[in-house]
Amino acid sequence: MRPYIVANWKMHGLMADINEVMAIDNAAAKFDHVDVGIGLPATLIHTASEQVKNSEIGAQDCHQAEQGAHTGCLSAAMLSEAGAAFSIIGHSERRADHAETSRLIAQKALTLQNASMGAILCIGEDLATRQSGAALDFVAGQLVESLALADDTSLSLERLTIAYEPIWAIGTGRVPALTDIAAMHSKLRDQLVASFGPAGDAIRILYGGSVKASNAKDILALENVNGALVGGASLKAESFAPIIAAA
Ligand code: PEP
Repeated sequence: MRPYIVANWKMHGLMADINEVMAIDNAAAKFDHVDVGIGLPATLIHTASEQVKNSEIGAQDCHQAEQGAHTGCLSAAMLSEAGAAFSIIGHSERRADHAETSRLIAQKALTLQNASMGAILCIGEDLATRQSGAALDFVAGQLVESLALADDTSLSLERLTIAYEPIWAIGTGRVPALTDIAAMHSKLRDQLVASFGPAGDAIRILYGGSVKASNAKDILALENVNGALVGGASLKAESFAPIIAAA
């Protein structure tokens, strides 16, 4: 399975930062065996996608409907036309800030599938759930609910990626123990196979949450960790390139 390293720029980046996107794209050129994605603010997608050669540009959210009266929202077709090859969906910041539920996210996953775009579906527990010992079952449940509408043909699952992101590890510098990451990814792999049969074995599962140059190698070496979704350390090629190299 090819490793997949994805940047999530969140609400960062103006046109002047296209230089940084290109620096990441140039870094990606050195690692042929790694797939690199860059999730950008919608305002940068078109310009960036016209220039990159070694990476794919993506969005950070899309509306679940194909079109309609949804002021301020963007459809999968709009993002695709602008040059996005994929979209992140269900990020915990959207679940928290915009009250997005797994049911809603299942619709977004379907919309992206129908638009032939990749979907990076984020799931993960909060600190209280981790401390209560219920994280494995909670996150597996989120996975099932968020994919309730996904087509179970291998063709439509091809562009589906899962990102396990414990909420308490995002932007905090805290990372779960390697054994806990491995246990969660193994649980999610089992769930994907239970849901989709052998096709579930080919779906990449990324880890996200305070990944940086110094911990990437150990995390990426774990079984069933097929890449990383990176926030803070992805904003500069200087800190993101070593993570690509670690893969
Ligand atoms: C994220 O928000 O997807 C993320 C993983 O952020 P960070 O790497 O900054 O923890």
